[in-house]
Amino acid sequence: MAKLLKGAAVAAALTEAASERVKKLESNSVKPALAIVRVGENPSDISYERSAGKKCAGAGICIRNVVLPADCGQAEILDIIESLNADPSIHGVLIFRPLPKHCDDDMIRAALSPMKDVDGITDASLAGVLTGRGYGFVPCTARACIEILNFYGVNPEGKRAVVVGRSLVTGKPLALLLTDRNATVTICHTHTKDLPSVCRNAEILVVAAGRAGLIGREHLSPGQTVIDVGVNLTEDGICGDVSSADALEITSAYSPVPGGVGTVTTAVLVSHVVDAATHAYHATLKEAVIRG
Ligand code: NAP
Repeated sequence: MAKLLKGAAVAAALTEAASERVKKLESNSVKPALAIVRVGENPSDISYERSAGKKCAGAGICIRNVVLPADCGQAEILDIIESLNADPSIHGVLIFRPLPKHCDDDMIRAALSPMKDVDGITDASLAGVLTGRGYGFVPCTARACIEILNFYGVNPEGKRAVVVGRSLVTGKPLALLLTDRNATVTICHTHTKDLPSVCRNAEILVVAAGRAGLIGREHLSPGQTVIDVGVNLTEDGICGDVSSADALEITSAYSPVPGGVGTVTTAVLVSHVVDAATHAYHATLKEAVIRG
C-alpha cells in the first residue's frame, strides 16, 4: 500500500513559514498584498479566488479583488495591470486565465511586471526557470510538486522522472525543476509512443494531462513515487488523472487528487507574495542608500 503524500501538511509548513516572514515585514511597516484580477464569472475562478483569498488572509496578506465584466475591452484590462504594476502597496498580481476569447493573452501577460508575477505567467518568469536567473517566479503548480517531494524526503537526484503533460504552467517548468535537481527527465504528451512503458519505467511520475483515468495499473510499478496534478470534474465528483486504487495498490508513494497538489499550489502562491514583498522592501532600502 502506497504512502499517501497529502498536500495539507506541506501547505501548512509553507504557510507557517510565510506567516513568520509576514510578521517580520510588518515590523518594518510592510504589509504584503496580492491583487487578484478576474474577468468574467467563471465558477472555478471564483472558487479559487475564495480559497486563495482565505489562505492569504490566514497568512496576514492583504487581498485586493479586481473583477471585470466578461465583455470588458482589452485596453481596460491593460490599464488595470499597468496601475497595479505602478502601485507600491501591491506586491503580487494573479490574473485568471484563460481570459475571454477577445483578449490577447500574450499582450496581457507581457504587460505584467515580472517582479509582481507571483503565478509565473510572464515570459521573464519562464526564462528564469530555464536559466535559473531572472526576476519572476516559478509557476506555482510546478513548484508545488517540488515542495511535495522535498517535504516527504523524495530526492530526485539520479532518478528517472517522467512528466506527463508539457504545458507552460506545469509540465515544462516542472521538467526543468526536476532536471535542476539532477533527475533524468522524460516529458510525455499526446504523441508519445507506448505511454504505459515510459511511465512504468519512471521512479518519479508526475501526471498533468487533465484526462480522468489516463494512468492505470499498466502505467505503474512498485517503488514509484506518483504525483497526480490533473483535476477532472466527473459525475462522481473531482478526480485526478491517475487511478487512485491502482496507485495505492502498486506504487510506494502517491499524492492524490483531491487532497494533494492543489492545496500546496495555493500555499506556494502565498509564499511567492511574501517573496515579492520582501524583494520590494529590499529594493526600497537599496534605493534609499543610493540616494544617501
Ligand atoms: P494542459 O494545457 O491542459 O495540457 C495538457 C497536457 O497533457 C498537454 O501537454 C497534452 O499533450 C498532455 N496530454 C493530454 N492528453 C494526453 C494523453 N492522452 N497522453 C499523453 N499526454 C496527454 O495542461 P495543464 O494546464 O498543465 O493542466 C493539466 C491538468 O492539471 C488539468 O487537469 C488542470 O486542471 C490541472 N492543473 C491543476 C493545478 C493544481 O493546482 N492542482 C494547476 C494547474 C493545472 P499535447 O501537448 O500533445 O496536447
